[in-house]
Amino acid sequence: MPPISYLECARCHAHVSADTPQTVCPQCPTQPAGSLFVHYDLSHLKGTSPRDVVARDAQGPWAGMWRYRSVLPDAQPVTLGEGWTPMLKSRRHTGAYLKEEGANPTGSFKARGLAMAVTMAKHYGLRKLAVPSAGNAAGALAAYAAAAGIEAHIFMPLDVPFANYVEATAYGAHVQLVDGLISDCARIVAERKQQEGWFDISTLKEPFRIEGKKTMGYELVEQLGWEYPDAVFYPTGGGVGLIGMWKAFEEMESLGWVRGKRPKMIAVQSSGCAPVVRAYESGAGVSTMWQDAATIASGLRVPKPYGDALILDIVRASDGIAMAVSDDDILASILDWGRNEGIFLSPEGASVTAAYDQLLARGYLNPGDRVVLFNTGAGLKYTDVTAEAMKLKRPSAQ
Ligand SMILES: [Zn+2]
Repeated sequence: MPPISYLECARCHAHVSADTPQTVCPQCPTQPAGSLFVHYDLSHLKGTSPRDVVARDAQGPWAGMWRYRSVLPDAQPVTLGEGWTPMLKSRRHTGAYLKEEGANPTGSFKARGLAMAVTMAKHYGLRKLAVPSAGNAAGALAAYAAAAGIEAHIFMPLDVPFANYVEATAYGAHVQLVDGLISDCARIVAERKQQEGWFDISTLKEPFRIEGKKTMGYELVEQLGWEYPDAVFYPTGGGVGLIGMWKAFEEMESLGWVRGKRPKMIAVQSSGCAPVVRAYESGAGVSTMWQDAATIASGLRVPKPYGDALILDIVRASDGIAMAVSDDDILASILDWGRNEGIFLSPEGASVTAAYDQLLARGYLNPGDRVVLFNTGAGLKYTDVTAEAMKLKRPSAQ
């Protein structure tokens, strides 16, 4: 595992040391301060074959996402078996692969970022972590904090999928449900963290969740034979996966591990909460707060993502698009993939399969184009929400 050379601010490009725990850039001249990205000295890996390096590293306990330990921070992992999730070829669409992130511990992609962030929190000796969550980050933080013997303080909306509340409580986290959105939860964490001695482990407010998420970028390229697909569809709430994958592509190219044109990054939101899409369509560089956010895809209910500027830059630089689909389309796609592919998508995952159908119909993509569709969570975590959308009730006993 490589030593960290420095952390770099995504906005003002200041360099910050990683010797002590960091949150956002301490040197940004204006607010909101930029997120910090980890930089390593990877010169010894230049020109190596990724097949050799990863095969060497993926031995013994270094399974899952830790197979990429040569590009991750040097620390003893807190692991529950995250990463190396299935890349499933669609039975109907020639070029489509579904990246099944529901196979992660705690049933979602959030396991990657939080495994890494909690690993580093333990490395730094932090004792109390706090997070606002739309649901799945709460479950993941609670699990990894329990595994690390660290306190977790979790704030999520009152109407999160019930599974998120149950799991976080079962893992022994301090859980508070808030009558509001994730933005209200974030405000509470910000207001109380100093007094309570909490380290804020929110998306993009510490450097390491991105490092965990970036393994999705390495993994999808490796699973496609160290080649890029034509497009990557990503359900975009906080957007860290997209940001992490882009960082992975940059690193892999600098090492000579992958060549060719980077995939179009397709950021998908719900029409009930689409701040990034609105900014993308109006040509804006940042989003504005989405009022009255409402969608069955709870993970997409992020009225103003902290990383909006980064997401918009990536979508544009990749020649991709940001687009929204309706909750009706999401439900229809859950049923479509359930019946025809044997895959129970999360509502967020179904937003991208719905978007894929629409872009095929529009001729934006051809059926043969190689695309990766991210199912960011297991459908089983959303049975209450999905049942309600399906108007499905438990049959009463006779
Ligand atoms: Zn800065």
